[in-house]
Amino acid sequence: MKKNLGSILLGAPGSGKGTQAKRLSAYFSIPHISTGDILRSEIQRGTELGKRVQEIVAEGKLVSNSLVTEVVRKRFQEKDVERGYVLDGFPRTVPQAAMLGQILEERTLPDSLVLFIDLPERLLVSRLIGRLSCSQCGAVFHKELNPPKKELTCDLCGAHPLSQRKDDDKDTVLKRLDVFESETTPLLKFYSKKGRLQKIDGSFSVEEVFKILRKKISP
Ligand code: AMP
Repeated sequence: MKKNLGSILLGAPGSGKGTQAKRLSAYFSIPHISTGDILRSEIQRGTELGKRVQEIVAEGKLVSNSLVTEVVRKRFQEKDVERGYVLDGFPRTVPQAAMLGQILEERTLPDSLVLFIDLPERLLVSRLIGRLSCSQCGAVFHKELNPPKKELTCDLCGAHPLSQRKDDDKDTVLKRLDVFESETTPLLKFYSKKGRLQKIDGSFSVEEVFKILRKKISP
């Protein structure tokens, strides 16, 4: 069997998970599986699932473990995960990690690498509230740190205007960071106890962090 490049990117909102996951996915030609992107797309399309989660996502709370796990289980039925995947935003809780273990077992896939992008809270807040997202291709920019070449226009797909995600306003950002602290910190401990957590300093440049992650996935 070929080596599987399956990895989980862990990190608080604003740690750069999404940006790195997109780059890693393109570099290794493996799917980027972002539960946040999947849920936002369901919301945008007004599906049953979208309607159920709309309010929860807007408030920065977590969708139920069973619901989000079903989304992931379905995604893992596709063939493309057999070479690898970059999971972004899942698992976020210890029960989700256990359920991911089951999904991988059912799929006869090995355990994923667990890569944690670590960044202090003050940097997370400023990164998040200045963030601009493309609703068409999902590219992410920042008003000051990584502005698009043409104002409010996506460099990648040309969509206009870029906008702030509804859950990137200051109050919701603080709420999401609280949720990370209470729900996801135990997950870090869970993987750490198993000796599987690899910590990466997220304060380096995007390029630098990318190189580190790339080498972890394929040394
Ligand atoms: P993200 O794009 O990863 O920041 O996710 C945006 C929002 O989607 C989160 O604030 C949650 O409301 C929801 N969400 C995404 N992934 C999960 C997950 N694994 N568990 C529960 N809720 C999630």
